[in-house]
Amino acid sequence: MAVAERRRRTADALAADATAVRRVAPLGGAPRLTAVLGDPVEHSLSPAMHNAAYAALGVDRAYAAFHVTPPMLAAALRALPALGIIGVNLTVPHKERALRMVARLSAEARMLGAVNCVVCVAKRPAGLYGDNTDARGLERDLDSLGVTLTGATAVVIGAGGAAASAVVACLRRGAGEVAIANRTRPRAAALVRRLRARLPRALGGAALAARGLDALADAALLGRAAVVVNATPMGLTSAGFVRIDYARTPGECFFYDLIYAAQPTAFLRPAIALGRRAADGAGMLVNQGELAFELFNGVPPPPGVMRRALWGRLGRDD
Ligand code: NAP
Repeated sequence: MAVAERRRRTADALAADATAVRRVAPLGGAPRLTAVLGDPVEHSLSPAMHNAAYAALGVDRAYAAFHVTPPMLAAALRALPALGIIGVNLTVPHKERALRMVARLSAEARMLGAVNCVVCVAKRPAGLYGDNTDARGLERDLDSLGVTLTGATAVVIGAGGAAASAVVACLRRGAGEVAIANRTRPRAAALVRRLRARLPRALGGAALAARGLDALADAALLGRAAVVVNATPMGLTSAGFVRIDYARTPGECFFYDLIYAAQPTAFLRPAIALGRRAADGAGMLVNQGELAFELFNGVPPPPGVMRRALWGRLGRDD
């Protein structure tokens, strides 16, 4: 699409969305807040994305970052309605702990065993509502990257909340087999048990296997992998990455790292060197953020605005 046409459509969408925001929640007086709670939180790029969307809509709302330690999480969440905060994103290490701190959970959050969005609901029954947009965010990114998984094998590294989202995203993209490779194998086994109990029937037929990190040197498994997803902070919080036999994967295998950075991550570098397709988690971050924005504000953000804000912060071309 030509640049001028794209700009015109974006301007039309902005005007339509701005009208919709005013209709959904009339504004006036003090600005209304949304936020991210985390420990640490200083690195979060969510404020840049959400505030860019508010600025583009021209609405009197803002998105802040609050450093909340685990012992303070319950008090921080309880305070949200009193402070007039519309909703918050949760990041490391709060997503699993928050499950027990909200009045209602979406089926998605219950299935993933983690909450990444908490919304203050004013209507009856009033209270905190927990949802999770990570799996849908990754699924959208895999879709836009053209990663097709119908009947295919996926390898997911990690067994935390992000790994649960990655497994569900791969299953929704049609994967027929998912191997969950985790440093602590019993945690991978617990994730398999929870997903088997909670997956909707349409996804329940896929084979799920709990493995240790030795799976990343299993030639037979890697030889049939269509995607390998890193859902751990390895490479970010550790100097390097555990050994993976990248060369055993098929030439069309896709490597996806939930970590995002200005430069290719430690997990992606060897894959790129071998000519494999690869992407980091920046696209997932944008997509989960767009879904959260809509959940908080009742309207979607203007198309492309959150992505441009993130790409700008990461020093990437649009
Ligand atoms: P988490 O619950 O803390 O899970 C951490 C997982 O990583 C566990 O399976 C843990 O294994 C494993 N792990 C941690 N350090 C390791 C190491 N040095 N070696 C091997 N395994 C290690 O975290 P999470 O919430 O699932 O998040 C995981 C990553 O995904 C984080 O880096 C987060 O920033 C990223 N993320 C990105 C997005 C996005 O939008 N792009 C969204 C969500 C999360 P054990 O069980 O053995 O401890």
